[in-house]
Amino acid sequence: MKSTTSRGGAVDAVVIGAGHNGLVAAALLADAGWDVLVLEAQAEPGGAVKSAELTPGYLSDLYSAFYPLSVTSPALEELHLEDHGLRWTHAPAVVGHARSATDEDAPLIYRDIDHTAAELDRHHPGDGGRWRALFDQWQRIKGPLLSTLFSPFPPVRGPTRLLRTLGTAGALELAHLMLLPAGVMAQQLFEGEAARLLLLGNAMHADVPIDAPGSGVMGYLLIMMAQDGGFPVPVGGAGQLTAALAHRAAFAGAQIDCQRRVRGIDVKGGRAVAVRTAGGDTVQVRRAVIADTSAPQLYQSLLPADALPGSLLRNLEHFVWDTPVLKVNYALNSTIPWRSASLNGAGTVHLGADQHGLIRWMADLNTATLPERPFMLFGEMTTADPSRSPAGTESAWAYTHLPRGMADDESADKLSVAVDRVLEEHAPGFAQRVVAKVIQRPSDLEGSDANLHTGAVNGGTSQLYQQLIFRPTPGFGRAETPVENLYLGSAGASPGGGVHGICGRNAARAALRSVGITGWPRRRLNRAVLSLTLR
Ligand SMILES: Cc1cc2nc3c(=O)[nH]c(=O)nc-3n(C[C@H](O)[C@H](O)[C@H](O)COP(=O)(O)OP(=O)(O)OC[C@H]3O[C@@H](n4cnc5c(N)ncnc54)[C@H](O)[C@@H]3O)c2cc1C
Repeated sequence: MKSTTSRGGAVDAVVIGAGHNGLVAAALLADAGWDVLVLEAQAEPGGAVKSAELTPGYLSDLYSAFYPLSVTSPALEELHLEDHGLRWTHAPAVVGHARSATDEDAPLIYRDIDHTAAELDRHHPGDGGRWRALFDQWQRIKGPLLSTLFSPFPPVRGPTRLLRTLGTAGALELAHLMLLPAGVMAQQLFEGEAARLLLLGNAMHADVPIDAPGSGVMGYLLIMMAQDGGFPVPVGGAGQLTAALAHRAAFAGAQIDCQRRVRGIDVKGGRAVAVRTAGGDTVQVRRAVIADTSAPQLYQSLLPADALPGSLLRNLEHFVWDTPVLKVNYALNSTIPWRSASLNGAGTVHLGADQHGLIRWMADLNTATLPERPFMLFGEMTTADPSRSPAGTESAWAYTHLPRGMADDESADKLSVAVDRVLEEHAPGFAQRVVAKVIQRPSDLEGSDANLHTGAVNGGTSQLYQQLIFRPTPGFGRAETPVENLYLGSAGASPGGGVHGICGRNAARAALRSVGITGWPRRRLNRAVLSLTLR
């Protein structure tokens, strides 16, 4: 381990925030031999990857819980976190979707494709074969497709490999498929409601209405990842993923200081030269600053306004956050009495709405109406990892959304009553089995991680108009910022939310490339591009 100057001195790089993206960036910079200091506002690293024993004997993941993106991501794979204590485990079934409160035969995805296909055929003959064909194609294209989605804008290698694999017509068809609204995609890919709903429920991990262009891609990616590597969880809780990342970053030589909130970045001659903490320390920076903060915090509060182009500040006034989140953590004294017994084996369950119900629910969210019948994501954590609570019990959570602009505690509490009601309908006797319940309102989520504005899951809306070259505002799509050696490395940058570490990796790579023999032309090119896209 290398020693790093933490107070008053200078370091090569400061990473602001020890979320998983910040930790990935810190590890990569330290691997390159840089002195790296991570400054984290909270008492523990991890951001939205943390767990705690909210009820004695019951471990709860406080935010993210299932990690298909992590096991698919090259950014995390290359850190070899298994060598730093991480162990994955799986529920017997990956994900299910209860169609209505009376559904006794909810469809599921299993890790064994024969099992999934047979079940889908049972629900609607022919959909098993359609599922297999889609998965065959996924296996041929997943490398170049993910490279395309994960690369800073404009991606080059991924699209070239896609063209080589699929040919021009095939690549065009795929691009068209990826842009479809989830509802249209589901109808084009499958004939039966079961398979369609599995896609639609997974599309709801982003805040894009299922009738809006681009909403299908999240559903497509998650169902294919569900079939491919499942939705794994770390043995011992989400916090074990953070523990492995923090250990990996420290092993490389990075220093992680908690309870040191950054309140400003000093800029001189267009470069970030120092970082100031709320405690009054100033850390001088020799090479780079990486912000694992939200985009609005970085540009509207940490940087001096005169260091930024006016158009960026104007565009940020129109930055769109994701819809507010309500999360309810349950400790149950038994397994869950689902009407549909198959759901007992699933790690993730989607429930509360069928296709039309999802459209109505999204309409509620976009018309300031507190949903009477919330659609929700539900996690059966002991089913996925028996270490989470005593045998025969369940540590579970549900999360759902409040309407845009409605994030007050009173509305959240009202919505939590509706969540309990929907659960009771799907699992009669659920309430009687609850021994403890802890609610995380939007204010609680934001209070424990400044990036989670009213609980924002993805660091800003995932809608097409704020993705790719428009993320976080028009003209970006990369980690570089208008300040020469400052990089945005959080979910606020492209490709966005989820625990994949790509945002942190993109930022670290951009910082590493900006120094050395090729650094000068790269910095010039970046300045030229940004001066064309920002005014
Ligand atoms: C309820 C919920 C459920 C989710 N479920 C899943 C899931 O199952 N699977 C999945 O893949 N994704 C899930 N996500 C999304 C995922 O957790 C996030 O997209 C991801 O964690 C973002 O990582 P990050 O490093 O960009 O930011 P964060 O994890 O938010 O970390 C940012 C860190 O920066 C710190 N910070 C902020 N400002 C400052 C400052 N000024 N000074 C110092 N430190 C600062 C914060 O305290 C925090 O530690 C979920 C999110 C939520 C909220």
